[in-house]
Amino acid sequence: MMPEEILQPDTKYLMDLLKKIISFKTVAPPGNCYQEIVDWLEPIFKDMGFKTEKLIMPEEVFAAKCSDPRLVGDRFNLRADLFVGAEKTLVIYAHLDVVPAEGNWDTDPFQVVQKNGRVYGRGVSDCKGSIAALIAALKVLLENGKPKYNLSVLLTTDEEVGGYSGLCYITDRGLVKGDLMLCMDGFSDDVVIGSNGIITWDVVVHGRSSHSGSSFLGVNAVERSIPVMETLMDLKKVIQARRSNLPASSAFEAVGLKNLMPMLNITMINGGIKENIVPDRCVLRGDRRVIPEESMEEAMSEIERTLKPLDIEFDLKFYPGYPPMSVNPDHVWVTEVREAVKKGMGNMPRLSGAQGSLDQAYATEKTRIPTCVYGVGRQLESNAHGLNENVRIADLEGFARFLIELIRAE
Ligand SMILES: [Zn+2]
Repeated sequence: MMPEEILQPDTKYLMDLLKKIISFKTVAPPGNCYQEIVDWLEPIFKDMGFKTEKLIMPEEVFAAKCSDPRLVGDRFNLRADLFVGAEKTLVIYAHLDVVPAEGNWDTDPFQVVQKNGRVYGRGVSDCKGSIAALIAALKVLLENGKPKYNLSVLLTTDEEVGGYSGLCYITDRGLVKGDLMLCMDGFSDDVVIGSNGIITWDVVVHGRSSHSGSSFLGVNAVERSIPVMETLMDLKKVIQARRSNLPASSAFEAVGLKNLMPMLNITMINGGIKENIVPDRCVLRGDRRVIPEESMEEAMSEIERTLKPLDIEFDLKFYPGYPPMSVNPDHVWVTEVREAVKKGMGNMPRLSGAQGSLDQAYATEKTRIPTCVYGVGRQLESNAHGLNENVRIADLEGFARFLIELIRAE
């Protein structure tokens, strides 16, 4: 084989894989179809010479870590390793679950439909398309040559519910092992090398209930929440004036955001039970998105410090989620990924950060493995999480070529 020859994936095989993978209703919540899809995928990797292992989350860990009552069924993750005697190991990660497909789709979301150069179905972009492309890429690659890395493929559960059972669980078991990592839970617009961390929070503002006709006898918790909200809104201005050094994704650049930015949002408010009862309790909830240059701890104490001077009785609680992620843009792995995108997709991609928060960041923080996030689909047209989720067939083929170029030995 000539080194400059570009290997092509078998498009028919890729489409057949995608059809089958989409047909498994691994919708989370509830996420009750994981065993079926893992049982189907495992022999495919075995046939390609991989050593496979089903990583099933034990019930007691599930009970302790996954309090979401909407989640039911066993948590089956698949790990597939191929040792080729290479010096380095590449970890490739994607999640098997998809968000629900409610609403008026033009086609059945669980039956892949091809139309006008695109495929439609829940998960074709986020992120089952990448799994089909990976298998198609590995097949042609292993038939025609040898990978330059040992491979460790992780296909996991519950990413879409911010769950613990997938990549986080595998990370804590010490099974994310390698020197480089590719997270396929992304888009083809940019190569993502960073993301925001997330902290959700709530403030319970306390009052004292009374008859509203004599409301001076009580303390109105809803009205007391106003200064709390105003204080948070002042802080929001300060926080959201900050910018990361990381460029924002090209999709956000189009609406004027040049660099990744932190966020403070009040997103829920609950208080009062009847118009003529002075409420004794009002709960505000929201989140804080933390850029890589900030720390999760400082973000929490900043909110605490800001609210403390208020002469109001309240309880503030934080629920830290995934940390921020940041990979050195000059790392050789980042360059390798970009070069492979150029060969496979035909364009040299920008580097950017994700405004959202990734479970990949949890694994990257704990393992310190240099990571790039690159996946299938385009932010402004694939409608991931929305109706009629779709990807260009050319993008699927391009993504498979990207993987081939990334993995194959010179
Ligand atoms: Zn995803």
